[in-house]
Amino acid sequence: MALIITDECINCDVCEPECPNGAISQGDEIYVIDPELCTECVGQYETSQCVEVCPVDCIIVDPDHTESEEELQGKYEKLVGDGRVSPVSPEADG
Ligand code: SF4
Ligand code: SF4
Repeated sequence: MALIITDECINCDVCEPECPNGAISQGDEIYVIDPELCTECVGQYETSQCVEVCPVDCIIVDPDHTESEEELQGKYEKLVGDGRVSPVSPEADG
């Protein structure tokens, strides 16, 4: 599932550098997640890195972009293959 940031976002900028896919950016009013790039960190991390760091827990599953674990893995591999995402996973090191 791609995630979405709700309007409870306080624009703290903590999540943006944590995203391995560069999916998070500052929008007009709050931070936004590009559903094309968000893989819920599948293939890279055990948990969604943005959710881990958000101080107000305003990052949730986007009901309009639900994807299975397999779909997310495939999406991640395609993004890497297209050169849009770098495989920076600690899991990939071994
Ligand atoms: Fe980026 Fe992962 Fe958050 Fe998606 S879940 S926006 S890939 S940090
Ligand atoms: Fe907004 Fe949470 Fe990201 Fe901070 S960490 S910018 S509150 S979504």
